[in-house]
Amino acid sequence: MSESPAHHRAGADSLRVYANDAVTLEIKEDWCKGDGCEICVEVCAPKSLAVDARGKAVVVDIDTCSKCLRCEIMCPDFAISLR
Ligand code: SF4
Ligand code: SF4
Repeated sequence: MSESPAHHRAGADSLRVYANDAVTLEIKEDWCKGDGCEICVEVCAPKSLAVDARGKAVVVDIDTCSKCLRCEIMCPDFAISLR
C-alpha cells in the first residue's frame, strides 16, 4: 500500500508525501539536488528509497521503512523529513 505518493503544492516546494500507520516520510522535491546524489538511497538498509529519472529521491515502498532516520540525517540538502 501507499506506493503512489500524494503530490501537494506547499508554497514553491513540491512535496512528496508517503505514509502508513507507522511512519510519514516527506521529500521536498525542489530541495533534493538530484542527479547522482543518492546518499539517501545508499544509507537506506531496507532499500525503501530510489531515485526517479531526474535523480530525485522517491519512496519505493513506505512499508519497508524502519524509520531509522538515516536518510533524514544524511541528506545534505535537508530534503527528507520523517515523523
Ligand atoms: S540525499 Fe537528499 S539530496 Fe541526495 S538524493 Fe537523497 S533526498 Fe536528494
Ligand atoms: S528512515 Fe531509514 S528505512 Fe526509512 S527510508 Fe529513511 S533510511 Fe530508509
